[in-house]
Amino acid sequence: MIKVAKFGGSSVANACQFRKVRQIIESDPDREFVISSACGKESNEDHKVTDLLYLCEAHVRYGVSYEPIFGQIVDKYSRIKEDLGLKIDLDHEFEMIRKVMKKGMSTDYLVSRGEYLTSKCLAEYLGYDFVDAADVICFRYDGEIDMEKTRLRIEERKKDNGIVIPGFYGALPNGVIRVMSRGGSDITGSVVANVVNADVYENWTDVSGFFVTDPRIVNNPVRINRINYSELREMSYMGANVLHDDAVFPVKSKNIPINIRNTNEPDNPGTMIMNDCREQDQIEPPHTITGITGRKDFTIITVIKSHASAEVGFLRKILQAFEDYHISIESVPATVDTFSVIVSSESVSSCLYDIVGRLRENLRPDDLRIEDHVALIAVVGRAMKEKPGMSGKLLSEFGNNQINIKIINQSSDELSIVVGVMNRDFEKAIRCIYDKFITEENGQ
Ligand code: ASP
Repeated sequence: MIKVAKFGGSSVANACQFRKVRQIIESDPDREFVISSACGKESNEDHKVTDLLYLCEAHVRYGVSYEPIFGQIVDKYSRIKEDLGLKIDLDHEFEMIRKVMKKGMSTDYLVSRGEYLTSKCLAEYLGYDFVDAADVICFRYDGEIDMEKTRLRIEERKKDNGIVIPGFYGALPNGVIRVMSRGGSDITGSVVANVVNADVYENWTDVSGFFVTDPRIVNNPVRINRINYSELREMSYMGANVLHDDAVFPVKSKNIPINIRNTNEPDNPGTMIMNDCREQDQIEPPHTITGITGRKDFTIITVIKSHASAEVGFLRKILQAFEDYHISIESVPATVDTFSVIVSSESVSSCLYDIVGRLRENLRPDDLRIEDHVALIAVVGRAMKEKPGMSGKLLSEFGNNQINIKIINQSSDELSIVVGVMNRDFEKAIRCIYDKFITEENGQ
């Protein structure tokens, strides 16, 4: 069995966390491919190494001394080295980084040093080989990862021993370091899982997987045991954030499950993200609802005009006005002569009245209404499909709790139902849905 284990910043924040990682690795010899983020925060007052490196870069750019910031990084790694009794020559590593900072360097090179240093320390501590991501994660000039070249490079470097590869960066064909977007170590883990044909991609973090809903809204929500990729996409689009969005594609294409695990609670099985959960669902049926998520602060722009539904091109003209301002649209609920467009309030903050002006001019509507402070809640679940009465139950729950529904939208794949309520009702609505569909189904 091949397991790729990626450890996030909180899992390698200090020596104590390194020890937990070693226990996890030693408890399963299949964990031979390890990907590491840069050291994360040890406490709320602390800073992530990557953030400190971005700050150093800004100091270099403005000609201000970077030493006070860089000193914090030096201290962090020196403490880890001392606490774990490592032999790594950190002075040499810091000297190299200082040298390039003095003569001017690329931002990508500098900010990748967090993953580089953390992985070097971790490899020594685990007794694994360190394999620099610059040598194996191969970008093409268009910014895409060359999977075949990456596969060959990893195959060349992987001997009998396990390996640690830094996350978040790779190199262009000319050897220049290139970083991914923030949180990119998740992508490195997924790419490595793809090219080594892993049986599972373990993503070790500081939560025990996905919860049905946000623990800040519902006390102790239940954990999601299994979720499929489409459900995950719906959940993360609407606000649930554990994994980098782009980390899904490399493993999904090869049907490799992702297991979200907690470094601080290694016995918890976490959440399995799979292409297809049907086999397991037969053994252990899931809740009707897999997850409830949502976001606040949307704006609904409603255009009303009698006989508009008979006017060819009416909807296109509405959408065109938004496209001209590069506004991405969340949803377009419509009835006979009433068309609504839902967008995030932030995205239209500087152009809403220009768009409205254009709609008035081009469409000559009978009425045009704007409503702010709207929240969208997505109720996601593969088990909702072909379950009659599901939306009825949901809507009557809102009625029973005096929550007014502004819009309701269900796609024909029946994977999710999106309900729009006022921001002020957001938390209450999520709690009601949770109680009705999770607490009740659990027989509590
Ligand atoms: N260290 C990088 C960041 O903070 C990448 C990662 O942790 O995945 O975004």
